[in-house]
Amino acid sequence: AKWVYAFGDGKAEGSADQRDLLGGKGANLAEMCNLGLPVPPGFTVTTEVCTYYYANQRSYPPELTSQVEHALEEVGRLTGRRFGDPERSLLVSVRSGARASMPGMMDTVLNLGLNDRTVEALAAESGDPRFAWDSYRRFIQMYCNVVLHLDHEVFEEILADEKGRLGYELDTEFTAEEWQHIVGLYKKRIEEELGEPFPQDPHLQLWGAIGAVFASWMNARAITYRTLHDIPASWGTAVNVQAMVFGNMGEDSATGVAFTRNPSTGEKKLYGEFLVNAQGEDVVAGIRTPQNITEAARLDAGSDQPSLEKLMPDAFSAFVEIAGRLESHYRDMQDLEFTIERGKLWMLQTRSGKRTTKAALRIAVEMADEGLISREEAVCRIDPASLDQLLHPTIDPSAARDIIGMGLPASPGAATGEIVFSSEDAEEAKAAGRAVILVRVETSPEDIHGMHAAEGILTTRGGMTSHAAVVARGMGKPCVSGAGTLRVDYRNGTMISMGRIFRKGDIITIDGSSGQVLAGTVAMQQPALSGSFSTLMEWADKARRMTVRANAETPADARTARSFGAEGIGLCRTEHMFFDDERILAMREMILAESADGRRKALAKLLPMQRADFAEIFEIMAGLPVTIRLLDPPLHEFLPKTEEEIAEVANAMGVEVALLRERTEALHEFNPMLGHRGCRLAVSYPEIAEMQARAIFEAAAQAAEKTGAPIVPEIMVPLVGIANELAFVKERVEAVAEEVLSESGQKIDYLIGTMIELPRAALNAGEIANAADFFSFGTNDLTQTTFGISRDDAAGFLDTYRQKGIIEKDPFVTLDRDGVGQLVRMASEAGRRTRGDLKLGICGEHGGDPASITFCEEVGLDYVSCSPFRVPIARLAAAQAAC
Ligand code: ADP
Ligand code: MG
Ligand code: MG
Repeated sequence: AKWVYAFGDGKAEGSADQRDLLGGKGANLAEMCNLGLPVPPGFTVTTEVCTYYYANQRSYPPELTSQVEHALEEVGRLTGRRFGDPERSLLVSVRSGARASMPGMMDTVLNLGLNDRTVEALAAESGDPRFAWDSYRRFIQMYCNVVLHLDHEVFEEILADEKGRLGYELDTEFTAEEWQHIVGLYKKRIEEELGEPFPQDPHLQLWGAIGAVFASWMNARAITYRTLHDIPASWGTAVNVQAMVFGNMGEDSATGVAFTRNPSTGEKKLYGEFLVNAQGEDVVAGIRTPQNITEAARLDAGSDQPSLEKLMPDAFSAFVEIAGRLESHYRDMQDLEFTIERGKLWMLQTRSGKRTTKAALRIAVEMADEGLISREEAVCRIDPASLDQLLHPTIDPSAARDIIGMGLPASPGAATGEIVFSSEDAEEAKAAGRAVILVRVETSPEDIHGMHAAEGILTTRGGMTSHAAVVARGMGKPCVSGAGTLRVDYRNGTMISMGRIFRKGDIITIDGSSGQVLAGTVAMQQPALSGSFSTLMEWADKARRMTVRANAETPADARTARSFGAEGIGLCRTEHMFFDDERILAMREMILAESADGRRKALAKLLPMQRADFAEIFEIMAGLPVTIRLLDPPLHEFLPKTEEEIAEVANAMGVEVALLRERTEALHEFNPMLGHRGCRLAVSYPEIAEMQARAIFEAAAQAAEKTGAPIVPEIMVPLVGIANELAFVKERVEAVAEEVLSESGQKIDYLIGTMIELPRAALNAGEIANAADFFSFGTNDLTQTTFGISRDDAAGFLDTYRQKGIIEKDPFVTLDRDGVGQLVRMASEAGRRTRGDLKLGICGEHGGDPASITFCEEVGLDYVSCSPFRVPIARLAAAQAAC
């Protein structure tokens, strides 16, 4: 078997499309050789060797030694050297390289092959003993650190002592003799620490480094990184061994890194930094301040350090030419690493460069305009989830963070404010002009006003679809949920984090994009939408098939949704409309009334308020569909809780407090989410549905008259499991429609449909479709009911499930294809068999999740609906799904 792939001298055994085998770095080194670019020769030990290594008790395939020896000879031949030769020794770098670039893997070892003899030869050959001894001490430091796991502080101590002794500031001040002396101190110290001398045999050094790269694949840092980024352990890493070129050979040598376009703005300008007489990662290590590559960047930065353009014009123009070629060859912005040895340029790495979302948009749009890529490719190049960065304030990445807790990144963006523990305090502080973070164990619909008043929401319980998370996303407010290490004590008014006590009024910051909770204020970056953003979104809109609607229930939400390009409302929840102070009273009167008459009386108070809510939303969405869900939550949630509240309702209704208390107790439910809610309310109290239907139709008629645009309300019946439930409610709603429309003399088209959110509904969809104009998959509840997992309580154990590999992804975040997805598919097909024109959509949180949107496209849904701030993400994801 072939385990080693050589590259060098204008050709290579591998190429860029062999990433899997050669790793990203190895594949691109091969590709650059094939393009005839100046790359120091070398070879790649494949990822298959890594796989073999772990499958065979950390041993190598038997042929590996001879293949490596052979490849080394070839590199020696190309460089006129020999590995281990005392006179003209080949020196190499050993570099790890997985398929996807992976921090956490072993760091590169440079100058391998140096020892007490070869260093003397290098000094003689280069005529520069200082360079030779500097290279040797660097090698010893790196090798000890990454291969022998000796703490680098050991060396820093020695360096600091010597600097102190000689009165130096910088490493570069040491002379050859001083470096030589320091190497002696290093070696003595190593022997003390490790009990054996620093390895002198270059072959021993090489195999030590190769082994360390493979071993690092399973180190804790690498494993964590893979888990976070869904990289399978089976991929393995490759090892690249490459002839050294030296950027530290004097004033005509240098090393640097560059991007073909600006990675933070996307501007089409070569952008990079370099250091004269330096090696490897000196540029990023921050020991000396690097210089700008181009003269233009130097002037921009107002730096008085000469640019590469001025300092080494020949190497510079060679580099500019190569950078351009690589960008057109890869058709993407490249991140380049290079070294100049005595005026000659060498390329050491190229890869697609990491960039901010802002830069990604600009680069994609400009590359399409330049004809380098197609518009479709441009659309596919942007990670939809990354658009979040643009739509919310974020924490300045360079700001210091004092992290006091960690929860789920429930709603993106960052916010700073005083701690308050109740919605009342939130409103009060807001009214006084202060910014607050509402900190709760969990939230309920009663906290809506507090959530509105707060800049952000922090809960210590609850998952990604807990009340706090869903509502915060809908409002576009940052939220961290389920921060389990924080303890909130309402009674004492404290929040405790690892022994630190925070009280009401203390300032904290939450980062809903990462889940971090921080003490104090932190510098922020404000969102800004660029021209490239709208251009790319236009291209995305042309490419997609599904429409994108928003889940919105207030005029403000509806406006935000439209401004982000929503094409209607897929879910207008009506329950939050009932939690306002004056409405909740009427609502409680209604629930606690003894008779239908009593209920009607209370409902009559609610009718005009509901009508006004709907009319405004219809006007904002004129010409676009608006799906309104009839009352859904358990009645339980509306019950008065305190004695004071009970007394207030009793007074309003003119009944005895005792009687009302009794009635409240009777309505108590053990399992409200599976209790008296959804269409069950409409079945027991049709008056509620009738009132809501009346409000909807009157509002529609009113809005149609005012805007002149067609208003098509879609009335959605929640929690249907039995076809008869829907038929029953539909009949009532239709009767009201006829009444209202004949009163107003207007013709309003409307649809009546249902949420599919119970497994029984999905299983029985064919029959349910007889009475439905549309299905909207309520995948939050459908996930909850299919798994039998309460979404409000799942955060704690689902995380354990993920860590233990039982599930890969949180099913409340990404739709579970194998279970919930099957139900969605089955119900869609059965529904369409009954009614070919059945409209299909999704309104769960999954409607804003790119992976779930891909699934919706596959199933052939007509639209997805998500919170207003996720609309751009959904538009882009829907386009990518259709491409
Ligand atoms: P990383 O993946 O962390 O970027 P690399 O393997 O690219 O690690 O190595 C880091 C740096 O080491 C390179 O950018 C380059 O400056 C230097 N380097 C690596 N190999 C060589 C070499 N053969 N000759 C000179 N410098 C090298
Ligand atoms: Mg590195
Ligand atoms: Mg690199």
